[in-house]
Order: sequence, then structure tokens, then C-alpha cells
Amino acid sequence: MESYRLVPRISREDLDARMTELAGRINRDYAGREILVVGVLKGSYIFIADLTRKITVPLEVDFVRLSSYGSKSETCGEVRITKDVELPVRGRDILVVEDIVDTGLTLRWYLEHLRRFNPRSISVCALVDKIERRQVQIPLDYIGLRIEKGFLVGYGLDYSEKHRNLPGIFEVRFNE
Ligand code: 5GP
Repeated sequence: MESYRLVPRISREDLDARMTELAGRINRDYAGREILVVGVLKGSYIFIADLTRKITVPLEVDFVRLSSYGSKSETCGEVRITKDVELPVRGRDILVVEDIVDTGLTLRWYLEHLRRFNPRSISVCALVDKIERRQVQIPLDYIGLRIEKGFLVGYGLDYSEKHRNLPGIFEVRFNE
């Protein structure tokens, strides 16, 4: 594997403060309703664990795993579900929780797929909104952190399955 170093981008403490803000907004927006949180595996698993513990409206949690075709570093919009949600979606208020929105192609595909099952509403919460390579406009209702570019790891995000367990978020910088 290429040699690289990890540069700190956002600390565990700052992430915690962002989660509190996001959960506060979600609690206000969904007051009197019940949410079905649909977490997109695997990168969002820590984000979901932290965020849901700060949400006070009733919720259920389920997971979907998506596999995008294309090169390792760039998706091409052809997506396959390798693990589907198991709870019923019809008539529910869905909060899709994604790790990173990059080109937007994966999420666009999944939101179109989900709409076919007639949920009452769909909102999207992304830990990271990475804007430089966005190809399709996706309305993101809740955003943890917006960055221009860079490959991030930690807090659930991986590089070749490594570094998910880092408590904060780091940027991978490849050595020349
Ligand atoms: P998109 O279809 O929006 O281009 O792809 C988004 C997916 O690519 C994310 O769910 C994530 O799995 C992966 N991805 C994009 N950027 C990064 C990044 O900086 N770090 C990591 N670990 N994964 C990324």
C-alpha cells in the first residue's frame, strides 16, 4: 500500500458538539412524530450510534448496505443493495444517515429506490458534505461538516477498511 500520513481535521470534541446541534434540530423538526433512521453501512455506524443517542423523539433504526460500481476512489452511479432494510418503510418518516456525500450518485440512486416504497417523508443527514466532485444536486437536510475536497478517515470512515476506529476525523495525505 502507498505510504501516507493522517492529518487531523476535526476532533472528537468538535464532532460531539456538531452531533448535539444536529440532534437538536432533528428533535425540533420531528417533534410529535416518530423517525425510522436508515443508516447506510458501513461508514456511518459510529455517527449513527452517537447521533441517535442525542435524539429524543421516538425512533427505530435499520441499515442498508450499498455497493457502488466504479473505481475505488470514484463511484459511477450504478448501485446495488447488498443488505436491505428489514423494517417496513411505507408511510414512515425516514431519516437516511450517510457518511459522506461526494459525487452524490450513490445517494441519488438510493433515494429514488426508497421513494418507490412510498414513505411519508425522506430527509437526509450526512456526516460530511464533500462538494468539489458533486455531480448531482441532492438536498441535504442535516450536515455534520462541509469540506471542499480530501479523503477522510476515522469516526467510522475507512481507507481500505482501516482507521474506522479513530475517534476524530483525519485527512489521508499521500507521500510523494
Ligand atoms: P458518491 O456516490 O457520493 O460519490 O460516494 C459516496 C461514498 O464514497 C461514501 O458513502 C463513501 O463510502 C465513499 N467516500 C467518498 N469520499 C470519501 C472519503 O473522503 N473518505 C471515505 N472513507 N470514503 C469516501
